[in-house]
Amino acid sequence: MDFTVISTYRCNSRCSTCNIWMHPTRPADEISLEVLAKIPYGIDNLNITGGEPTLRNDLAEMVEVLLPKARKLEISSNGMHPQRLEPIIKKYPNIKIRLSLDGRADVSDSIRGERLGFETKVNSLQQLKEAGGSDLGFAVTIQDENVQDLAYLFNLTREMEVELATSCPHNGFQFHKNDNSPYDRLRVALGIEELITSMLKTRSVKNWFRAYLNLGLMEKILGNDRLIPCSAATDFVFADPWCDVYACNVRPDLLLGNLKEQSWDEIYNGQQAVKIRETVAACPQNCWMVGSARTAMRQPLFTRLPKFGPLWWVLVNKARVTLGIPIPFSRNVNFDVAGQFPAGNRRPSFLNTPAVKRQVHLEQNGHYEPFGAFHNR
Ligand code: SF4
Repeated sequence: MDFTVISTYRCNSRCSTCNIWMHPTRPADEISLEVLAKIPYGIDNLNITGGEPTLRNDLAEMVEVLLPKARKLEISSNGMHPQRLEPIIKKYPNIKIRLSLDGRADVSDSIRGERLGFETKVNSLQQLKEAGGSDLGFAVTIQDENVQDLAYLFNLTREMEVELATSCPHNGFQFHKNDNSPYDRLRVALGIEELITSMLKTRSVKNWFRAYLNLGLMEKILGNDRLIPCSAATDFVFADPWCDVYACNVRPDLLLGNLKEQSWDEIYNGQQAVKIRETVAACPQNCWMVGSARTAMRQPLFTRLPKFGPLWWVLVNKARVTLGIPIPFSRNVNFDVAGQFPAGNRRPSFLNTPAVKRQVHLEQNGHYEPFGAFHNR
C-alpha cells in the first residue's frame, strides 16, 4: 500500500490551484518523529509532502525514520530550497524527488506564485543530479494556463534525463480548495494527447504507464468516470499534520483514526475502516491524482505488476505508435460530455501577494473550514 504524510501546511509558494499557503500549521502541532515511527513497514510508496516539506527543520530525521519502512521513499517539494534536499540525496541517492514545475518560466511562476521559481527549480534539480540523485523529476499540474507547455516540459525533462510526473487540479481538504475546475475541458484534454504519444514513443516502461495515467487525466478533466475504481483506505491513506489518518486527501468525512492516539493496527483493521471502505466503494467523485491512479493501476497483491486493463492498453498503443499508427483516443475517452459542465472561474495569480502569517491550530470545528462536499467532476 501507499502512504502519504502531509508533513506541514506551511508553504513558501502561493499557488492558484491550492490554498495551503493561506492555512499554515504551527510547527509545534505537526506530526512528530515518534508518531511517524508508528507507520508500518512494507509500504510501497511513502510520500513526504506538504505544504512544503523542506520547511520542516527535521526533514532529514523524518527520512531516517521513514526510509526503512518503504520500497520507495518520495519527497514532493517546490524545489525552492535545494540546500535542504542535497545532504539527504548525497546520503540516500535513490530517494525519489519530484519538484513542482508548471510550465515555461512566466507561466509556472504565475501559477505557483514564485519569484524566479522556474530558474531556481531547474538549478535545484541539476544540483541534486550532481549530488548523485538517481530518481529525480519535475511534476506538472496540467491546467488551462499551461497545457500548451507540455511538449516543452517533456523535452526539458528528456534533455535533463529526469522524469515528468503529471496531475491536474483537484479539490479537497488537503488543498483547502473547492473551486478548481477547467475553463475549457475539451482544450485541456486534447492538449494531453501529444504528451501521451510522446511518452509511448520512448523506451521507458515508466513513461508507457504514465501515458495510461495521462489517459485517465483526460477522462478526469472531461468530467467522465475514473478509468479504474478508487481503492482509498485499502491501498493508500493520508496522514495530515495533526496525525489524523484519512482514506484520501479529498473527503474529510473519510477519517480512519488518529496515529498519535491509536496504533496502526487499530486504525487500519478497526470497525471505522470497514465503514469507510464501504463509503469509498460508493464514492461519486472522479479524482485521478497520482496516488489514487497509481494504486488503481497496479495489482493489489503483486504491487510491482500492472492490472490487465492498463497493461493491454499500453501494449496495444505502444505497438500503434511504433508502427506510426495514431492512437484512437475516442475509443477510450468520451469527448461528448465536455460541454455539459459550466466553465470554471479563472483563478488569479498570487505572485505579488504577501505571505500569510496566520497559523491554524485546533479549532472548535476541527482543522478544516466547513466547505460542505468537495467536488471533483
Ligand atoms: S474517488 Fe472518493 S475515495 Fe477516492 S480519492 Fe476521490 S474522494 Fe477519495
